[in-house]
Amino acid sequence: MDLKTVDAGLLQSRYRLTKQRAAVLRALGDGGHLSAETILEKVRTELPAVSLGTIYRTLDILRAIGLVQIFSFGGSAARYEAALDKHHHLLCTNCRTLENVQADGVAEIAAQIAATKGFSDVDYGLTIVGRCTKCAGKAGQNGAN
Ligand SMILES: [Zn+2]
Ligand SMILES: [Zn+2]
Repeated sequence: MDLKTVDAGLLQSRYRLTKQRAAVLRALGDGGHLSAETILEKVRTELPAVSLGTIYRTLDILRAIGLVQIFSFGGSAARYEAALDKHHHLLCTNCRTLENVQADGVAEIAAQIAATKGFSDVDYGLTIVGRCTKCAGKAGQNGAN
């Protein structure tokens, strides 16, 4: 994500790209899905005085603007990512690796179901769980396959 473009976009809204917001976006810059605690660790290398509360408030604002998305599954800690596009997730239940995937047709299914129940402001997300190729390989080596 190009922070200059982001800053220009934010100038047109009531939000500014503060030091904290820029640092959080940089922490998420490598495309990972990070917990708030991991983001805090990374941001503290730039801004040592930042608290976890500030990280959560900053993440809330970045989510409201649409620059950050949240993922949680099965009661595990929420993970955040800097992504603009709608996408779905493949989750390895063994190593917790999370991969972004596209899933054609899910939007139509979600819209259809929501319409039959009269839901508005609809959002949806598909999470496919299983074992990644690395973990499946390990299981095979142990004879546990
Ligand atoms: Zn795995
Ligand atoms: Zn994702």
